[in-house]
Amino acid sequence: MNKKFVKNLSNKFPTKDITEDDKKNKLKLSTSKKKVVVKIDKNIKFGTKEIPIIAGPNGVESHSLMRKTAKILVKNKIRIIRGHAYKPLTFPYRSKQYGETQSKGMDWMDQIKKEFDLKIVTELTEIQFIERVCKTADILQIGSRNMQNLELLREAAKTGFPIILKRHFGSSLRDLLGAAEHVLIEGNSNLILCERGVSIPHTHRDTSRFALDIQAIPALKEISNFPVISDPSHASFWAPWVPSLTFASIAAGCDGLIIEMHPNPKKSLVDPLQPLNFKEFSKLIKSSRLVAKSVKRKIS
Ligand code: PEP
Ligand code: MN
Repeated sequence: MNKKFVKNLSNKFPTKDITEDDKKNKLKLSTSKKKVVVKIDKNIKFGTKEIPIIAGPNGVESHSLMRKTAKILVKNKIRIIRGHAYKPLTFPYRSKQYGETQSKGMDWMDQIKKEFDLKIVTELTEIQFIERVCKTADILQIGSRNMQNLELLREAAKTGFPIILKRHFGSSLRDLLGAAEHVLIEGNSNLILCERGVSIPHTHRDTSRFALDIQAIPALKEISNFPVISDPSHASFWAPWVPSLTFASIAAGCDGLIIEMHPNPKKSLVDPLQPLNFKEFSKLIKSSRLVAKSVKRKIS
């Protein structure tokens, strides 16, 4: 087939890859060449030489859990705490055990924010929770399951808050940037893209649900100019692999990291295999500082 015909073909019909035509017409804002730095405050920025760490448990289980976590973060000079009070679920059966603390959880996060002067990342699952979440959060997380919940994306974007958009585990980079475009078109360019692992036929361990697509980091940074962060905890679902995947992400050029931690991982109400305990977390931060230095970056 002649080359020109093939080129036109790939430009006319959607593929899983990003064409020149996409960049011009469909992904105008997400692939623009203007480098974006997402500023959280005067000291915390995504998209610079610094690599901010976002760490904490999966869910805001209790005030005391968040206090213990905050203390370890402060000790390690980490300034962003995470924890979800509203939570998406793979399966619909919510037991008491599950612990979706909702507005009570957000109140605890409020107290943590004031007591420890930390920034808050928490998940926004539904439009109806925007008001409560925005009262406390500094960054809204749109979870992978909601990556293409376009109405939620647009409403979240309208708040003007910085947004972490997690890539769905079955979605192409083209679809991720398509979703990003829905945020950007609302005039909110405080956007951080997050690679959190993809479903592949084998994950090397039967409790490992996803595999970190490390290549997505340089690929997204090549195509778009938004900060790209990595979440090795959700990707591996397995704490012992989190350090190597963290180091690999830093080497691959990530602009931030999400690390799940818990004082007693076995007791974590969700996903007990993936959080690091506090000792492991502190060790990880120490080593990550060295890895970052070797590629002229800095953990913050
Ligand atoms: C999380 O960050 O706690 C989470 C649920 O992540 P994901 O949406 O990537 O599964
Ligand atoms: Mn989680």
